[in-house]
Formats: sequence, C-alpha cells, structure tokens
Amino acid sequence: MCYKCVKDKTLDRGTFCSDTCCLLSNFAQCSECGSTSALEIQTDKPVTVQGDTEVLTRNHLCRCGHVIGEHTSEFWVESGHQEYRMDCHLCGFGEDSISIVPK
Ligand SMILES: [Zn+2]
Ligand SMILES: [Zn+2]
Ligand SMILES: [Zn+2]
Repeated sequence: MCYKCVKDKTLDRGTFCSDTCCLLSNFAQCSECGSTSALEIQTDKPVTVQGDTEVLTRNHLCRCGHVIGEHTSEFWVESGHQEYRMDCHLCGFGEDSISIVPK
C-alpha cells in the first residue's frame, strides 16, 4: 500500500460507497514512474467472508504495476439494516446504512 501517490488520504465521502469507484481526481501521480494516466482496478479478487461480513478488496494499479491504493468494501447486515463501508486511500472513506425492514 502506498501513501505517496494520492493527494488526500483521509477523504470523507459521507454515505458514498462503491466497489468499482476510482477517484482519479485524488490521484497525484505514480511515485514509481511519474504517470498520471488512468488507473486500472484489479477485478479478479474473490469476496472473502469474515464472520457475517463480506469483504471485497481490490487494488488500484498504475500501468507500471505499482499499487496506488487498496480498495476495501465491506457489507454486512445488522439489526434490520444493510451496512456498507468503503475504505480506500484514493476513493476515501464512506459508510452507509440502509433499512431492510419494510415500512
Ligand atoms: Zn505509490
Ligand atoms: Zn507507475
Ligand atoms: Zn478506491
């Protein structure tokens, strides 16, 4: 994991959560090769389950292979709510809670 290539590593995204997000506006440049072009996102990582929580981890990669950030999304159900959490240096931190109890 790398802190040198992003502008703001403590971004608060409120309730925004995404598995596939790539917030290029927060990408400064690759500290390895100096590239500022679009990043790739690894999509071949399986979902892992930790207890009741599904965890999906994907890396944002520069075209040189340098890992810009590790993107983690977590999903679990708690007392009638679906809880989501996104944690990534590049995309920021978000948390959302959606009621699954019919009104
Ligand atoms: Zn870096
Ligand atoms: Zn690079
Ligand atoms: Zn991300």
